[in-house]
Amino acid sequence: MTFPYKGYAGHYLEVDLTKGKVHKREMEKEWARLYLGGTGVAAKILWDRTGPETDPFSPDNVVVLGTGPLTGVMFSPSGRFMFASKSPLTGIWAESHAGGFFGPEVKYAGFDFVILSGRSPKPVYLFLRDGEAELRDASDLWRRETDVTTDMIREEHKDPDVETATIGPAGENQVLYGCVVVDYYRAAGRTGLGAVLGSKNMKAIAASGSLGLEAYDMDKYLEANQKEMDRLNDPLWKDFLVSLRKYGTTDLIAMINEIGRLPTKNHWTGFFDHAEDIGPEIIAKKYRTGHEACHGCAIGCKYIYQVKGGDYPSGPAGGPEYETLMAFGSNCLNRDLESVFHMGTRCDLLGMDTISCGKTISFAMDLWETGMITKKDTGGLDLSWGNVDSMVQLVEMIAKREGIGDLLSKGVRKAAEIVGGEAWKYAVHCKGLEASGQDPRAHQSVGLTYATNVRGADHLRSLSCLEELGFPEVAIARFGKEKAAAIMDILSPKHKGEVVKDIEDLYALVDSAVICKYGTMWPPIFYFDTFENIIAPLTGMDDWSSKKHVREAAERICHLRRAYNHRLGITRKEETLPKRLLKDPMPTGPSKGGLPDLEHMLDEYYQYRGCSLTTGYPSREVLLSLKLDYVAEELERKNMLANCYEQKN
Ligand code: SF4
Repeated sequence: MTFPYKGYAGHYLEVDLTKGKVHKREMEKEWARLYLGGTGVAAKILWDRTGPETDPFSPDNVVVLGTGPLTGVMFSPSGRFMFASKSPLTGIWAESHAGGFFGPEVKYAGFDFVILSGRSPKPVYLFLRDGEAELRDASDLWRRETDVTTDMIREEHKDPDVETATIGPAGENQVLYGCVVVDYYRAAGRTGLGAVLGSKNMKAIAASGSLGLEAYDMDKYLEANQKEMDRLNDPLWKDFLVSLRKYGTTDLIAMINEIGRLPTKNHWTGFFDHAEDIGPEIIAKKYRTGHEACHGCAIGCKYIYQVKGGDYPSGPAGGPEYETLMAFGSNCLNRDLESVFHMGTRCDLLGMDTISCGKTISFAMDLWETGMITKKDTGGLDLSWGNVDSMVQLVEMIAKREGIGDLLSKGVRKAAEIVGGEAWKYAVHCKGLEASGQDPRAHQSVGLTYATNVRGADHLRSLSCLEELGFPEVAIARFGKEKAAAIMDILSPKHKGEVVKDIEDLYALVDSAVICKYGTMWPPIFYFDTFENIIAPLTGMDDWSSKKHVREAAERICHLRRAYNHRLGITRKEETLPKRLLKDPMPTGPSKGGLPDLEHMLDEYYQYRGCSLTTGYPSREVLLSLKLDYVAEELERKNMLANCYEQKN
């Protein structure tokens, strides 16, 4: 039977790297209907094919490259795609998204998903073009940085429009936070997906396509799309969109420092005295040379920078985002902006996640200050706070796993285990993933977001921006007038369990559709009704116009990813925060004295999610209501259902 739904390319690719074989298969109808695409479908594939016995670096691990029905179609923003796997950094669910032009090109080349398994005996890359796929020799590409790799692939095909997703030397060397880079400087950064590809001798995926995508009912789809695009013009968020276009995410340095939430000195505090030195105004005035947008994006938050001369000339390249400015800037007490540009760009070229890299360096600086590591360990490097020369050298050493770079290439959790003693106190992570640029002591719901996030301490699965940005109208519309005041209080834990659960559901659809978080998270323009309006006329899946179906699909995806982690040992005990963010009151700045009330928020979250308050395990009833019977069966066998666990214990 032919795959009936539109908006999809209609095929996926199975790649057995051990045998060097590719198999083109028709998309599964149930994948689209129940899991939509992207993260939802990847969760189903990884649930079926990986588990507790899968070593992330073994040929058994599977990497899913996924797009969604909104990738590459007329919708803004529609340039996104994602990778998922079992993470070598955290040992649990791994997922990372990026924008640019690669995702749409994969669909135009005829594929919605690529599933990679096995390990190639020699370096290879995958080339997709107009419904055909082949593995090609990548021996000459191995050891190359990401920009050179892209140029060489384009040259090989005599086609400057070939889009690539490539790993760099860090992924080849299995730095645990090695990432995948597209369009030279956009990264699927987190959870070490580049390292998994490196372990498979898989250098890159390249795509070039001219196949079109269809809508099921074009007139209705255009009408629905126009309605959604009109939302962008609402005066409610005009200023935010203007600022996003003008400054990109660099604007957050100023905004977040103002509320005392900017990670500073390895998360010791949330206020950086020198935030202006790495902030939006100086970047815009002195270094910004251009402006870019991902495929089909009307927001256009990207900028190009260049540093000419000085100690660290770099660019022209994609300008560092807020997270990179924070990780190599405030969090290392570094106010030398040009060095931050340099390190961000080096990470893109080496294929390393800037957040985990910067956070691991700040962790090392803390150990240096306490005397837990000395010049003997660092090979003579002085790791005093803000020592940019040492930081710049560390970035290179980590990518090569040279000297102390080998220890730091493992991320803060494993590095702390190796150093031993009290090093764990300085390892700011959840479930092994280094914290991104938020601090829950200044924003209660961030604590819950970090603790429950399926990939670790990260904001992109459930961060609530309503209280941060100040949208009481939106809080009233979504949660009712009675709850809105407490929801809008950034320092109140009240109702945050409900809010985080709601946002996590919403982002699960965003990540399955697959679209950009800007416009949904910041500012909160799109909501569940966007999917009700747009998916059915695009795809022909009528049930997606029902509110119930849309909400259930979102919950199904969230429960499936959570269950994936339960099977790997994650319970309420692991859904917690590092000591520094949970027990040490904020020492300085506007949020001085703040601490998250995590237990209160967790109880509420589990109630809304339909999980045990003791373990975080889901109930059988909830799983069955979401058509996750196969998950319920397996969790029951493992004594991991809320009801069966509580009865037996
Ligand atoms: S908002 Fe920014 S990151 Fe998102 S799609 Fe547009 S340009 Fe890309």
